[in-house]
Amino acid sequence: MNNCLFCKIIDNQIPSEKLYEDEDIIAFKDIDPQAPHHFLVIPKQHIATINDAKDATLLGKLITKAAELSKKMGFDKNGYRLIMNCNSDGGQVVYHIHLHCLAGRKLNWPPG
Ligand code: AMP
Ligand code: ZN
Repeated sequence: MNNCLFCKIIDNQIPSEKLYEDEDIIAFKDIDPQAPHHFLVIPKQHIATINDAKDATLLGKLITKAAELSKKMGFDKNGYRLIMNCNSDGGQVVYHIHLHCLAGRKLNWPPG
């Protein structure tokens, strides 16, 4: 039995504020936003970390959809940040890959 939090969101066993869904990916609002706007784009396929990802088309789709949603929500002019954390040093907490999109304020660089 898959005990993955994001697989449960995909299966609607756990509620989320969905922004987009198709046969391959979903996007939903982050429950603990780190910026005025913070959403996640994830594949429906369970892939634990970016180390395990082999499907370049699927990964490209995560990025292009994050950009498309960002444009639709009007973040494109001021800008936004896309991040994928990997394993403990990268700050990964949920082991189902997800692309973070953060927007709505000036983001620090370099990140902490
Ligand atoms: P990461 O540290 O890259 O693994 O990020 C995991 C992200 O998932 C964090 O930003 C969390 O706030 C977010 N998160 C955890 N549980 C939920 C949930 N039920 N719905 C939406 N986002 C969540
Ligand atoms: Zn999963």
